[in-house]
Amino acid sequence: MKLDTRAIRYLTAEDWRVLTAVEMGSRNHTLVPTHLIIQIASLRSPGSVHKSISALAKTGLIARMKNAKYDGYRLTYGGLDYLALNTLRKGQWVYSVGNQIGVGKESDIYVVANESGTNCVLKIHRLGRISFRTVKSNRDYLRNRASGSWMYMSRLAAMKEFAFMRALRDNGFRVPEPVTQNRHTVVMEFVDAFPLRQISEVPDPAGLYDELMEMILSLARVGLIHGDFNEFNILIKEEQDVQQSTLSNPGVTKLTPVLIDFPQMLSMDHSNAAFYFDRDVACIKRFFERRFGFTSDEPGPFFAEAAKEVGKGSVKRLDVEVEATGFSKKMAKELEMYMKEVGVVGDGEAPQERTGDDDADQTGEDDSDQVETSEEYETSAEHPRSKTDSDLEPLPDDLE
Ligand code: ADP
Ligand code: MG
Repeated sequence: MKLDTRAIRYLTAEDWRVLTAVEMGSRNHTLVPTHLIIQIASLRSPGSVHKSISALAKTGLIARMKNAKYDGYRLTYGGLDYLALNTLRKGQWVYSVGNQIGVGKESDIYVVANESGTNCVLKIHRLGRISFRTVKSNRDYLRNRASGSWMYMSRLAAMKEFAFMRALRDNGFRVPEPVTQNRHTVVMEFVDAFPLRQISEVPDPAGLYDELMEMILSLARVGLIHGDFNEFNILIKEEQDVQQSTLSNPGVTKLTPVLIDFPQMLSMDHSNAAFYFDRDVACIKRFFERRFGFTSDEPGPFFAEAAKEVGKGSVKRLDVEVEATGFSKKMAKELEMYMKEVGVVGDGEAPQERTGDDDADQTGEDDSDQVETSEEYETSAEHPRSKTDSDLEPLPDDLE
């Protein structure tokens, strides 16, 4: 499921209204009845609603479902992307969309820019995408639950990620600066760095190893476990080392790890905390052995010791603080249950190397056995190709 912004400029004010109506209807209906769309959109003539429905279905922003007991539509990931982008554009967070720099299992990552040209990262959460490909029984089970839908869960993942990034950043952790969050998306600082996974050599493996273990321990002190702490989710930034640089040798650099990817973070009080803590530690140990031939002399760190340090001294418990930001315990539980149900696994558990393969036609929610592409509502976009992927394409201003 690629983000394709080409059709965004062709949507009329009525189209946006109808798209929003489908989104609103989705809160209580997996399949939003057409009459409800007409009612929510409350346009002067139902005829113009039908016209918009047709245009939106053609562009693939909504989809009609087959074998349904009534006539209705559901929002697609594409439709949700457009609604989010439109809000981000109106709020002046995003002016243009550029290259896709990451395809995670549960997300797509794009470089975007705001009006003043500052680059940011747009992370679009797509929960259920990969897992649904293989786990058909789960898909069947989840298909008919509006509240357990990919849309709601992807939004929870984005809310959670944003809340944790904010709390971590405000408390001195090296994570990207969060910018804003809308629906299933998060806008954050673009970190000009490579994931540790792509780095074949470092000048001081022991130093970097210590720094990463210290990061795991300082997270534990504020009550948190990353839960997917591995070479994919640690970006290595090259920074000028002011302390080591001298007049004659000004360009001494040091490697600074920046932690990303927070939807699976958990509290040190979680019933499986020990398992996830140990796994985070083990991932780094294993990677350093394999990649850099480095094994630490020191055993651990161990969960039992880390647990004694939680909340000690003047540190705040961020697991508690985050609950107060709107990402509630209930939401955390719902997201955790869903991730378990659909088999969401972290980057470190990837069964194989990522291929970047990401065809829309393989996504669960677009499975052809569920979605009708009738003559009237065929999904092929009618608009001309106007850009290549690599262009930073400004979003149009004349949207509603
Ligand atoms: P996922 O949950 O799908 O694993 P991540 O948040 O780990 O998503 O991001 C996937 C990839 O996108 C990362 O490995 C990294 O290469 C890139 N990336 C993510 N966030 C940033 C950022 N803030 N700055 C630069 N690159 C990023
Ligand atoms: Mg990741």
